[in-house]
Amino acid sequence: MCKNRIILFLSCFIFVLVPVLADEFPKPSQEMLQQVARLKAKGFLLIDYHIHLRGGMTAEKAFDWEQKSGIKSGVLENTGKDWILSDNKKLATFIENAQRFPLLIGIQVNDRDWYKTTDKKLLAQLDYVLADTMIMNNETGQPQKLWLENQYEIKDIPAWLERYWEHCKTVVNEPITILANPTYLPPRVEQYYDTFWTEERMGQFIDLGIKNGVAFEIQSPSKFPKRAFIELARKKGAKLTIGRNNHDDHQEELKRSLDLLEELNITPNELLVLPAKKL
Ligand SMILES: [Zn+2]
Repeated sequence: MCKNRIILFLSCFIFVLVPVLADEFPKPSQEMLQQVARLKAKGFLLIDYHIHLRGGMTAEKAFDWEQKSGIKSGVLENTGKDWILSDNKKLATFIENAQRFPLLIGIQVNDRDWYKTTDKKLLAQLDYVLADTMIMNNETGQPQKLWLENQYEIKDIPAWLERYWEHCKTVVNEPITILANPTYLPPRVEQYYDTFWTEERMGQFIDLGIKNGVAFEIQSPSKFPKRAFIELARKKGAKLTIGRNNHDDHQEELKRSLDLLEELNITPNELLVLPAKKL
């Protein structure tokens, strides 16, 4: 009886647990693999530049997903005074850890003086720098996370939007590689999207990006940028990227990004392909 139990336990271990342990990371859906195959047949080299190593996501998991999905992984984390990589020592450890796998490595910058405070030797080890416009200094110069809407007021909407426009231009003038979530507006002023992001303003913004060698991201979980911006950016010859902006280790399948590549007939040479060290 006892012997039988041991055999039963061992059988369970071999046939049930061993396969699970050997492949514990998620697999892409058939639908995603078919979509990637269609895009690859058109000549695309697909790179997801916006994979945060947070919430359980690791360089190993990002590399495993790259092998399974056929989409190259670019891993990064947030830098800045109030962020996980708050100094150069932490950034050095992050790079060292990510370098254990053959991945593109970047940072997401949140302080507007990042290019002065980040160690140049560390910047030189990075493949890219990504930023967004979602943190703007308030009237007293304190950084304000714009998605935390209960933490700030907008008393004068036109004046706020004008200040935000100046902020957007500041970010795209920094030595960044990718502008994530372009044309973002916080929910309470989203109703002004079309009157704020006029064709003229979008055009000026895109021209600045092109002049500074900044690519514009089509982020999968975001509704920004809208199609009109993507189309204008393409017309002007800007480079585009795709990205997931994950918060955990659940594998986002980049649905919106990949769908838009197909629906808008975007061509492989319109996507930014690194490595092309900028700093
Ligand atoms: Zn991000």
